[in-house]
Amino acid sequence: MQSTTPTGKQKIAIVGMGVAGSYLINQLTRRGHEVTGYERYTENNFECVCAWGTSKYGIKSFVENCDLDFQDYIIHEGIKFRMEYGDNEYVSDATGLVTFDKHRMVLDMQKGHKIIYGKWVRSLEEEYDMVIDATGGIRGILPKMQNPDLQIPVVQYRMKFDNPPMNDFYLKMFETNSGYFWYFPLGNGEAHIGAGDYYRNHIHYIDEFVKKHPAKRIKIVGRPIRLVPPSRCEPFYSGKIVGVGESIGTVFPLAGEGIIPSLQCADIFLDNMQDFQKYRRAVLRHFRVFEDAGELLRSLLTGKFTIPDDLARMTRVFSELSNNPKRYGISINPSAISFSPFLESFSINLNIKL
Ligand SMILES: Cc1cc2nc3c(=O)[nH]c(=O)nc-3n(C[C@H](O)[C@H](O)[C@H](O)COP(=O)(O)OP(=O)(O)OC[C@H]3O[C@@H](n4cnc5c(N)ncnc54)[C@H](O)[C@@H]3O)c2cc1C
Repeated sequence: MQSTTPTGKQKIAIVGMGVAGSYLINQLTRRGHEVTGYERYTENNFECVCAWGTSKYGIKSFVENCDLDFQDYIIHEGIKFRMEYGDNEYVSDATGLVTFDKHRMVLDMQKGHKIIYGKWVRSLEEEYDMVIDATGGIRGILPKMQNPDLQIPVVQYRMKFDNPPMNDFYLKMFETNSGYFWYFPLGNGEAHIGAGDYYRNHIHYIDEFVKKHPAKRIKIVGRPIRLVPPSRCEPFYSGKIVGVGESIGTVFPLAGEGIIPSLQCADIFLDNMQDFQKYRRAVLRHFRVFEDAGELLRSLLTGKFTIPDDLARMTRVFSELSNNPKRYGISINPSAISFSPFLESFSINLNIKL
């Protein structure tokens, strides 16, 4: 298995023009490489299936690296982030949480670069020195993962309300601990509403919301989202092929947040592209907290939640979020959140003794 590549100008293919692939084509070209991007969507139908939520502080530097200003893409700036779980409600201050026009930003990152749209790529190795698999959840080029995958089906509507039922970020965690519903405002009475659920009840939650709050449906999209951490998405590389972004699991397993992590992964790749082994180690190191989140999610879904292991994981995940409010866009006060309703409902739902 190849792990080092020659230094100097290389002929590189990037398969997948999502946020990771678009950022990479921009950055690799600046570094003097000859890069071609491939995207399965045609140029006119190109689609960023995503709720467009992120932290303006966390994403800013990546956008600047492409000589763009993130401020130009912000649609809605959050004040509060409200989360419901059963009868409990938690309200956090938003610290840079925004929705933004991801579609336009990604197209701007792609501008002026050589991209072949409307081509579903399966293999390209013979024509290039390096092939980057940035195909997201599809993972279309890398070999099959060594561990079982965990992808949760997700459906999202773009809605236009005459009277928007909410004016800020809202999330409802399902009491089955298997998914959640979200409402992300897009300005002018529009919002992305969506849900994902391991038990595939997500459409039911969306339908219920829409029945209560009728609105015009502008768009419907869906795709599964990968929720296993990088360590379970090996191999990251094989021969000339190397994965970047969601294809190698850079999505926060409990939250489904993948934009900033995929950009971080792209930067780690740029720093280590001459040595895939080094790249692998750097990815595993950087996304260590995703391991905790991933194991916790696995315990929840399989009913194997244990104390103290999973409680310790839960504490580490919450510490990561609460210690980095600007990175995640919300200010969580751990002492304000009691785990007890969650643990109670969890023990009831999964019929276990805590
Ligand atoms: C409904 C939904 C809502 C989400 N909301 C958020 C959110 O609000 N905030 C957040 O941070 N994260 C969110 N995520 C996660 C986030 O969108 C992804 O993790 C992130 O975009 C991953 O980036 P990527 O570039 O690795 O992959 P992707 O964005 O998935 O891009 C992969 C690209 O590859 C193309 N492709 C795939 N296979 C091939 C092939 N064989 N040949 C050619 N092209 C191919 C695809 O068409 C796509 O354009 C959401 C995900 C979903 C499904």
